[in-house]
Amino acid sequence: MTRGILIVDVQNDFTEGGALGTEGGAAVAAAITEHLRTHEYALVAASRDWHDAANDNGGHFAAGEPDFVDTWPVHCVAGTPGADYHPALDALAIDVHIKKGQGKPAYSAFEGTSDDGEMLSEVLEEQGIDELDIVGIATDYCVKASALDAAVAGLRVRVLDGLTSAVSPETRAAALDELRDAGVEVVPRSPGTAA
Ligand SMILES: [Zn+2]
Repeated sequence: MTRGILIVDVQNDFTEGGALGTEGGAAVAAAITEHLRTHEYALVAASRDWHDAANDNGGHFAAGEPDFVDTWPVHCVAGTPGADYHPALDALAIDVHIKKGQGKPAYSAFEGTSDDGEMLSEVLEEQGIDELDIVGIATDYCVKASALDAAVAGLRVRVLDGLTSAVSPETRAAALDELRDAGVEVVPRSPGTAA
């Protein structure tokens, strides 16, 4: 088996102080960097939400009040500081950069493309990855959607819950149940890991 890791959307706008900050996001960024230093992966891929500035990205940006389910405050506009990786994430450790959400909602990293224009599934296949660990932000949205797509693609998937942060505790719990039902292994957080 050949194991890779997917780091989902560890971006400034999804961490404390960002447009759509999750509690614990900055700590998760640092903890992922530490995890990469102490674990061996055949491939390190990372996704970024990368929205257009000039439009509402297919209704993803709320016209009025966001409902925080289908519509959201403006976030992760391409090329802005909010769309950058969080500084605590070691971007030099990333082999493949995936961008998603240009002009449309895209919760799953499997909807994105690499700098070479390849889909994430193509990149994983080329590298012979058949096991994928998934970490990042947010547990209940983009981590969930990416893990479900990875399972559908036939990969053995683990979500390392201690290396994720969520929009809310309720939707996080529901997401973890949904992932387990889909055959994804959820590795529980251990005491002392990031919230
Ligand atoms: Zn988005």
